[in-house]
Amino acid sequence: KVTEFVSSRGALPDIPDDITLPQFILDSWHPTRPVSTKGNPMFIDDVTGRAVHLPEVHARTFGLANEMKSRWNVGNDQVVCIFASNHVDYPIAVWAVHRLGGIVTTANPNYTAEELVYQLQLTGACAVISHSGSIEVAEQACRNSGIPPDRLSVLDCPQGYAGTFPTIEDLVQAGISKHPQFVECRLAKGEGKAKIALLSFSSGTTGRPKAVAVPHYAVLANVVQMALHGRANAMDGASDQYQPGQVVLAVVPFYHIYGIIVLMHFYTFLGFTLVVMPRFTLEGMLASIQRHKINHIMVAPPMVVLLAKNPLVRAYDLTSVTLCMSGGAPLSAELTRQYCARLPHSAIGQAYGMTETATALTFPRIDMHVSTPGSGGQLLPGNRCRIVKADGTLATYNEPGELYVTGPTVTLGYYKNEEATRETFVHLDGTSARWVRTGDEVMFNERCEIFVTDRIKEIMKVRGFQVAPAELEGHLLKHPDVDDACVVGVPDEYSGELPLAFIVPSHDANERMKESSSEAEKVKRAIMKHVEDHKVYYKRLAGGVYFVDSIPKNPSGKLLRRFLRDTAKEIKTQE
Ligand code: AMP
Repeated sequence: KVTEFVSSRGALPDIPDDITLPQFILDSWHPTRPVSTKGNPMFIDDVTGRAVHLPEVHARTFGLANEMKSRWNVGNDQVVCIFASNHVDYPIAVWAVHRLGGIVTTANPNYTAEELVYQLQLTGACAVISHSGSIEVAEQACRNSGIPPDRLSVLDCPQGYAGTFPTIEDLVQAGISKHPQFVECRLAKGEGKAKIALLSFSSGTTGRPKAVAVPHYAVLANVVQMALHGRANAMDGASDQYQPGQVVLAVVPFYHIYGIIVLMHFYTFLGFTLVVMPRFTLEGMLASIQRHKINHIMVAPPMVVLLAKNPLVRAYDLTSVTLCMSGGAPLSAELTRQYCARLPHSAIGQAYGMTETATALTFPRIDMHVSTPGSGGQLLPGNRCRIVKADGTLATYNEPGELYVTGPTVTLGYYKNEEATRETFVHLDGTSARWVRTGDEVMFNERCEIFVTDRIKEIMKVRGFQVAPAELEGHLLKHPDVDDACVVGVPDEYSGELPLAFIVPSHDANERMKESSSEAEKVKRAIMKHVEDHKVYYKRLAGGVYFVDSIPKNPSGKLLRRFLRDTAKEIKTQE
């Protein structure tokens, strides 16, 4: 009986463990890398049409690294935060930090100052690169976390920008004009497995967001796994979707692990041109596909909802699209079929993975009719999976349970948080292999395709973004009208899930609500506003606020989330 799932694609080739990400992508060759002779641009700015080729990427990366060294003294293991939307200089900023041996932490540019401060303090960031639209928030967050204002820079340079902070363009030009001020970071054999490249945020199975320490090797290994999987698919008779010289739309945010690994590293490795879009709008995306004859689109499920259902889609020529890759949250079989009916020239599939496994564990078969709709893709080579059923025994094919996984992309754990690391990164059978406890309920079929059947862990996925209930509950408890709170996700067609709060009102709020019938609405609105004022838009309590007498807990005080999640679902179906 099979109780450990592995890819039938065979062994992985050697994955270099002595080079950094820019050395891998910009300077070296690997046997799984397609050879491109076309000299296409690496990046095109969707807004301005500016094209950036490899020699310019090299020069800009050097210039920026040189100036970051001389101006900010960024060095080994120092953390630089990029707080920005997608931009053609985003990869250059990432790779410049890596050339110096530093670490990149990426943040959502829609964060409030409070949210950014949390990330800056947890990672100990020494400098911030911000989008021009978020500069005020960045400035405030730097002030509140002790980062001097001369360590703040602006990634983009919109026309007429006359801010007080230097732009990346200023830094690049200053750096290019100087003699080298730094010695490039070189890794010893094996060091790539321990050297941190990224601190990417995830809540894991429980609690508040934590910084996942992603080593250079894990990213590189994931790139090689995906390339090998694509090649094996092509050898099985699927069309070769990964021909260099094609164009991919880079609209999924680089600040998410999926964007920074799959788009920024895998697609550049393949020799694709990335058309970089700062933010998603349906119209902008459709126009860009038509204008640049985009071949691949990487999306999150809400974008598939729009592509499959919105009438605007019919007004554009999308026939260049041959592959749509969805990830970050579940995509249903029904939606997959609707997409296929709308864009019959395009294959569609989904990847499944998580920040802690940097990033994709599975990838779809990339030809038209072979992936099973609703499946999260096939296991990538080099990964081993076990599924633990509710009774504690190991599952075989088509039996659901909690997924544990080990492989070359398992990350180092949560930065400076050993307790949380021990809970999620475990040793299963006394060997040194580290397994990630995913908190997802899944099953595999005989073709090693994964089906995600439920989520056991606390997090919600709203439009593909993680929302940690513990973060919102902690925040709600600061409101004077709240005595206790529990936040759960309720299903939503567009967003996937929406946060809903069960609230035990304070004695004072209760008294006011007894006196006047309109008071309950007022209290609800105040509680919602309390979240709106301090948290990024997708964390809002869009699922609603519901008053209860008490939050059910087990004898040791743990919230009975599953029970409340079911109650929330019932409330919503009755409404
Ligand atoms: P993140 O670390 O933000 O990428 O979130 C990882 C979590 O997102 C996983 O543990 C799953 O719960 C969920 N997830 C990601 N991709 C998929 C998918 N294709 N189907 C279902 N859930 C997914």
